[in-house]
Amino acid sequence: MRVPDMFISRWSRPVLIGVGAVCASALVLELAGAGRGWTLLALFLATVAAGAALWLEGAGRAPAATVVEAPATPGAPDAEKRLGDLAPLIEALPEATLLVDRDGRVVASNREARRQLQFEAQGLRLSAILRHPEILDASHDAAVDGVTRVVEYENAAPVEEHFRVYVAPIAWGEDTAALMIFHDQTTHIVTERMRADFLANASHELKTPVTSISLLIETLGGAARDDGAARERFLGLMEQQVDRMRRLIDDLLSLSKIEINEHVPPNERADMVLIAREAADAMATVARGRGVTVELVSEAAAHHVTGDRFQLTQVAQNLIDNAVKYSNPDGVVTVEIGVADGREAAADMAARRWPEASRISLLTPGAPASRRYVFLRVSDQGPGIPRRHLPRLSERFFRVERDQQAVEREGTGLGLAIVKHIVNRHRGGFAVESEPGRGSAFAIYLEQARPDAGGA
Ligand code: ADP
Repeated sequence: MRVPDMFISRWSRPVLIGVGAVCASALVLELAGAGRGWTLLALFLATVAAGAALWLEGAGRAPAATVVEAPATPGAPDAEKRLGDLAPLIEALPEATLLVDRDGRVVASNREARRQLQFEAQGLRLSAILRHPEILDASHDAAVDGVTRVVEYENAAPVEEHFRVYVAPIAWGEDTAALMIFHDQTTHIVTERMRADFLANASHELKTPVTSISLLIETLGGAARDDGAARERFLGLMEQQVDRMRRLIDDLLSLSKIEINEHVPPNERADMVLIAREAADAMATVARGRGVTVELVSEAAAHHVTGDRFQLTQVAQNLIDNAVKYSNPDGVVTVEIGVADGREAAADMAARRWPEASRISLLTPGAPASRRYVFLRVSDQGPGIPRRHLPRLSERFFRVERDQQAVEREGTGLGLAIVKHIVNRHRGGFAVESEPGRGSAFAIYLEQARPDAGGA
């Protein structure tokens, strides 16, 4: 209900209160003295009129008072006027950007800021979005004291994040506000840390055989100098260590070569059945030596993909080599190649077969879901891998700790990382399922080559 302005100006609040109070007192006195009827009626009417006028005036003024006292929120004409050309400019910036006024209220933000800092409404206090005191101080210092600062902060949970925030004063109508630009440093910092970890791990892996070799040389030159049998034994041990270093260096070089080309998809035509057969044949002697049988299963004579034949052979070899290495004696390693209609069916065929197994997708294919995929699945009857280790399986130098540590030490810890990078270059999928006591199955699946695709 709104009272006309003229009415409000004529009957101002103090006058109305005064009239109401005088009439009410007179009415009480008249009632006490039991005055004449018409006087009572007149005073009663005057009191009611003054009260009604006061109530009407209050009801009419309330909305106006709210608008005047409200903070300058974006969307309000005042805020919009002050924002001027700044709003589209802030929205167009690729990095998360906020404009915060001297009261600590967010008066403008772009989509990237709302996505990264996870808020929707404008006009919120900065402290409701971010709890880092140094960021809040920097915003205050810029908006109130005109100071420019660069502040870094990080979040450990729910996901690791690192930001460098540039906070600078900027004209905000006749006032000053703090312009805050958030540079996301997460990828850079995580990559740097991985690089440092990788160097430390690689050096550590190389240091172990080098230390053994130098100890063996020392012993050969001293205590074992004149002992022919000991010399033979030590020379054999040295050869083993040199072999280990050679494998490690080969795997490191191979990984770096794959990474250099990872963004260039292959364009040759490769037959996965042939590749699997060659890899299984290459492992046959080693497998026989361990009492392990390698079986090849394929419903067709050939299954083509668009791929780098040499690299896909490396994939098959690494998976078969692991399956043989971690198999129990007399175990059977099954290498299966087949075709599936669509990505989901391929994932089912690849590593969703054992109902009781734990499983994980180590890489999701980049090719469209509706295509036909060729899968290569290598399963063994070894000890299996505990569920908690599955997500780390393709990390460089990661090894599952088990009792038979000697077997683990034979490997470089790079085999599955190599597989993952090669499959990534082929935009394929990589998955594992494992059940302690039953065995493990590692599988890759790649888009099937079209019949008209060229190549060998
Ligand atoms: P490695 O050269 O040590 O075998 P990989 O990267 O190929 O390195 O494998 C990483 C780890 O994963 C291995 O050290 C082993 O603990 C585990 N692993 C890989 N394949 C199998 C498998 N078929 N059965 C059991 N454990 C496996």
